[in-house]
Amino acid sequence: MLVTGLEITINVRPSGSPAQPNPNPIRDALQTLPGAGSVEVVVESETGVTGRGSAWFGRVAGAPLALAAIIEHELKPLVLGTDLTCLRRTHEALLRETEYHGSAGLAMFGISALDTALWDCLGKTLGLPCSRLWGRVHDRIPAYAMVGWLNYDDDEVQRICARAVEQGFRGVKIKVGFPTLAEDVQRVKLVREAVGDEIAIMVDANQSLTVAEAIVRGRAFEDLGCLWWEEPIPADDVDGYATLAGTLDIAIATGENLYSPRDFARFLRRDAVDIVQPDLRRAGGPTALLQIGLIAQAFGRPYAAHAGEAAHLQVMACLPNSIYIETGLLGPDSPFQLAEGCIPVPETPGLHWSEA
Ligand SMILES: [Mg+2]
Repeated sequence: MLVTGLEITINVRPSGSPAQPNPNPIRDALQTLPGAGSVEVVVESETGVTGRGSAWFGRVAGAPLALAAIIEHELKPLVLGTDLTCLRRTHEALLRETEYHGSAGLAMFGISALDTALWDCLGKTLGLPCSRLWGRVHDRIPAYAMVGWLNYDDDEVQRICARAVEQGFRGVKIKVGFPTLAEDVQRVKLVREAVGDEIAIMVDANQSLTVAEAIVRGRAFEDLGCLWWEEPIPADDVDGYATLAGTLDIAIATGENLYSPRDFARFLRRDAVDIVQPDLRRAGGPTALLQIGLIAQAFGRPYAAHAGEAAHLQVMACLPNSIYIETGLLGPDSPFQLAEGCIPVPETPGLHWSEA
């Protein structure tokens, strides 16, 4: 089952580029996210079956072009001619190839997209959703809606959070990290008023605080009954996270900005994280997500996906410690309906909502 073809497509949204700024970008405590595009890769095997993977960007308009160049010139030669039934060998080769300039950042976005496409191609070739190749545990995964951007005013955040509950979500995540603790507390109280007492509320400061401030605000969020306290401080500060996890009762969640299973192992060994949150693009694709999830399970830590790609859902279906997948409000074109607050794991062969 050799890989015989690899096509790369760059999608740069005109809205959000420097030439055409987005008038209403979403915003968290660290970044303004106008939307900047994606890179899609399609691999083809000698049997003619194809597999898809992609990497999207919330900002940095030049990133898709740079990523496409890395894939074309550095990664593609190592993928063509490989055997689809030896994907971990291919994954190791891609990590080795990019080590000189760093198997992280854009290089890892490329490795992840290719790893996704290759697993998708193998699953489609065998006629099985990848979760059934890897060994499925769950048929559905609880979902929460990330709906509380900082640029929303009070009325808007209440309306959108109430809409999430109407759609069947049993958890909502909101951004915090306003200039003052009082503003953060007020935001959580407004959302609680909108969603009622039965809905989980998660809070996310996107790396914006100091350890001391994260402890003060974390205690307030504990008192308000929030479910987890996400990325309060810079993502690579393992000492700081160990302090927070050891000091606060609220669960400390982090991982969307960590690269590779080794990064997660470092946090787990230090008791610096209560809930791991890998991102498909930054962690290294499904191959790495599975490893991260099982390492976390050995440490007794739950796994919550950052972002909600179908490929990540297939991974979570195989992890006993999966607790939540992230998504936004459901739109008219949503490929799934919620069932008791959960997303059913697709039975489509491969890794996506549809085979096309
Ligand atoms: Mg986050």
